[in-house]
Amino acid sequence: MKVHGIVLSTMNIGEYDKRVVLLTKEKGKMVIFARGARKMNSPFTAACETFVYGEFTVYEGKNYNLNAVVIEDLFSELRGDLHTLYMGFYFCEMAEYFTVEGSADVDMLNTLYVGLCTLRRGQMRLSLVQAVYEIKMVALFGLMMETFSCVACGALEGEEEHVLTHFQSEKGGALCDKCSKGLAAVMPMGASTLYTLQYIISAPLTRLFSFDVKDEVERELIKISRDYQRVHVNHTFKSLEFLELLV
Ligand SMILES: [Zn+2]
Repeated sequence: MKVHGIVLSTMNIGEYDKRVVLLTKEKGKMVIFARGARKMNSPFTAACETFVYGEFTVYEGKNYNLNAVVIEDLFSELRGDLHTLYMGFYFCEMAEYFTVEGSADVDMLNTLYVGLCTLRRGQMRLSLVQAVYEIKMVALFGLMMETFSCVACGALEGEEEHVLTHFQSEKGGALCDKCSKGLAAVMPMGASTLYTLQYIISAPLTRLFSFDVKDEVERELIKISRDYQRVHVNHTFKSLEFLELLV
């Protein structure tokens, strides 16, 4: 069987082997075993590293075992800078956490691939790429934040003078000026931040990582993304912890 995908993580097994987690187009997340991948001159050595994108031929026994690989992209440029490298690891760790074995999720695979390409290009601030990736992946996971109407009264932006001015993670998204009054744990949200959230949720992947915002908007986006994840995902990502130590 041939599958196409990205290596999300690897683990050494025994003396010479590796356990590799792939995110594939055909079968979603897959765990495969690469026998002898750590032996000198093994054809699998280069392929069994995080970020590798390629075509993997596997045979199915008790487990999936790697038989051959055609590497299409190593993403080796990500290894040139520690921040970029660990951001890449974080993207892969999040994809691994959000996907299940045997259930194809092409949107998540494509978002990861485009996210890694964006990190490699290095034209967008890492902190902004991170916020965009997080908001998009959390939405693809099925926890999309509501940004087009008030989560309390349902009013659309601009409808009967309702303006979406706040965000509350517990309620799942934006609140209008009237509903946010007197509520605890609401975060103020500027109009540009609201528009940027709507853009991230609805933009096609080809344009997802191609915009810039002012520092103030970026700060609000990051704050909203962090808080929303804390409430709805509630998982500690190891590579993110490491990234935060680097700053
Ligand atoms: Zn409202």
